[in-house]
Amino acid sequence: MLYLLYIFTFLFGFVLMEFVAWGAHKYLMHGSFWFLHKDHHDESHKHIQKNDSFALVFAIPSWLCIMLGVIYGSTISILFGSGIATFGFFYFMVHDIFIHQRIRYFRNSDNWYLRALRKAHKIHHKKITKEEGECFGMLLVPLKYFKEELKKN
Ligand SMILES: [Zn+2]
Ligand SMILES: [Zn+2]
Repeated sequence: MLYLLYIFTFLFGFVLMEFVAWGAHKYLMHGSFWFLHKDHHDESHKHIQKNDSFALVFAIPSWLCIMLGVIYGSTISILFGSGIATFGFFYFMVHDIFIHQRIRYFRNSDNWYLRALRKAHKIHHKKITKEEGECFGMLLVPLKYFKEELKKN
């Protein structure tokens, strides 16, 4: 039973972050923190973006959970923090490498799930302004994109 709780805690940290990231993207990054997110939407495609600072912000809760878990001997806290960190890793792989090709890798990945994520995020990038954006999620996007890509398989 304890192992089930451990697995659940890890997965909970991971899945929760998709929703936290969605909310932060929609309400903070496209809100009062637009000044940091703006350069991710302009066409200059700078190598280092102000937007990258969000990765550091999201690393804080993960680092705190893991560090405090180690100090106080809480496996739950370590696993929750690891779930957050693992989400950050997948977000980076999908968003920064697969979609934006900041490192040229996974260029030819051709599976319906990844194609749907890329399409939804490209729709998000069509807007270069703060307002009226869509598709703020990363690993979970509106169902219509999954359906469209599944049909092509
Ligand atoms: Zn955005
Ligand atoms: Zn992007």
